[in-house]
Amino acid sequence: MSFPFVPNPSPVSAQERAGRLVDPGFGRVFTDHMATLRWSEAAGWHDGRICARAPFQIDPASAVLHYAQEIFEGLKAYRLDDGALALFRPEQNARRFQRSARRLAMPELPEDLFLQSIEALVRADADWVPGQEGGSLYLRPFLIASEVFLGVKPASEYLYVVLASSAGSYWKGGARAISLWVSHDYTRAAPGGTGEAKCGGNYATSLVAQQEAIRRGCDQVVFLDAGERRWIEELGGMNIFFVFADGTIRTPPLAGTILPGITRDSILALARAEGLRVEEEPYAIADWRADAESGRLTESFACGTAAVVTPIGRVAGPDYGFTVGTGATGQVTQHFLDRLTAIQRGRAPDAHGWVQRIG
Ligand SMILES: *Cc1c(COP(=O)(O)O)cnc(C)c1O
Repeated sequence: MSFPFVPNPSPVSAQERAGRLVDPGFGRVFTDHMATLRWSEAAGWHDGRICARAPFQIDPASAVLHYAQEIFEGLKAYRLDDGALALFRPEQNARRFQRSARRLAMPELPEDLFLQSIEALVRADADWVPGQEGGSLYLRPFLIASEVFLGVKPASEYLYVVLASSAGSYWKGGARAISLWVSHDYTRAAPGGTGEAKCGGNYATSLVAQQEAIRRGCDQVVFLDAGERRWIEELGGMNIFFVFADGTIRTPPLAGTILPGITRDSILALARAEGLRVEEEPYAIADWRADAESGRLTESFACGTAAVVTPIGRVAGPDYGFTVGTGATGQVTQHFLDRLTAIQRGRAPDAHGWVQRIG
C-alpha cells in the first residue's frame, strides 16, 4: 500500500459538512484529508500517505518559493447514478503530469502512484462529493521543489500533494455564454517555452492579461501566438473550438504552445466518431472576426475540466468587437456539453472506455 490511511483525528462533523456542501462553489471547500508523497535523490518516491488536510511547514528557502518549480493537474470524481464514484480518463492526467515534470526538470511520478493517490483520497473523502445534480469532487495534484537552497538548479527534493475540493454544479440554470478579450499585448506561451506544461508559472503570467479583460468588461482573455500575434491559441485555462456553418469543427493544433487538454481531446474523439469534419488547424483572429460577421462561423466554445464546455458569445479587441452566432449557447456547443457530461455521469454509453470506477 503506497498511501496508508492515517485518518484525520478531528474530521468536520456530518452536520457541518452538509452545510458546506449546500453551495460549495469552486475551490473553497476542502475535504478532511490530503495525499502526500516525497521524492529525494537518495530515496526516490517515499513516505506516501493519506492524512489530515492541514497546513504544512515549508522552509522559506524552499526552491519553489523562489524559482517556481511547480506543476499541477486538475480532474474530477463524479458520483454515477448507481452510487459508485468514478474518474474521467485519469491516466491522461497521470501522463500529462509526467510530461509537465519533464519540462520543469522534475522527477516523473509513476502513473500507478498518481492513480493510487487519487483513488485512495477519493475513497477517504467520498462523503464530500456533493449530492446535488452536477456536483463533483475536484482533485488537485501538484508537485513542488522542496529543497532548501537558493542556487538555481533542479531541486534534489520534491513534495507531491493531492487536495480534494467539493465543487457545485458549474452551470446552474444552464450554460451562459461568456465574452472574451483578445490580448494583443500579452502572450501566454512562446515556442520552446512552457505552454504545453501545466505549471503554475503559466498562470502567474496570464493574470495581468485576465485583469485587462475584466477591466474591458469581458469575462476571460484569449491569447494569440507569441510570434505573429495573429493565430488564436487558447484561454488562460481552457482550450478553444470553432464551429462552422458547413458543420466543420476546428481547434488550434498542439504545436508546443497550447496545453493539451483532455476535454479538448475528448471532444475531438466524439466529433470524429460522429463523422463530423474535424480540423486541428491554425485560425487567425482576423478570420474569426470576418467569419463571425459573414455567418460562415456559427459557434465558438472553450473547454476544460472545470466547466467542461463554455459557450463564447462575444469577442472584443482594442479596436473591434463582434458577436459569435446569436451570442447565446449554440446547438453544437450544447451537444458536446450534454454528451460529455452524460458520459462522465454514466448516463450514456462509454464507447471509448473513459470512465474509471473507483472500487
Ligand atoms: C488545464 C488546462 C486546460 C484544460 O485541460 P483539461 O485537461 O481539459 O482540463 C486548457 N488550457 C490550459 C492552459 C490549462 O492549464
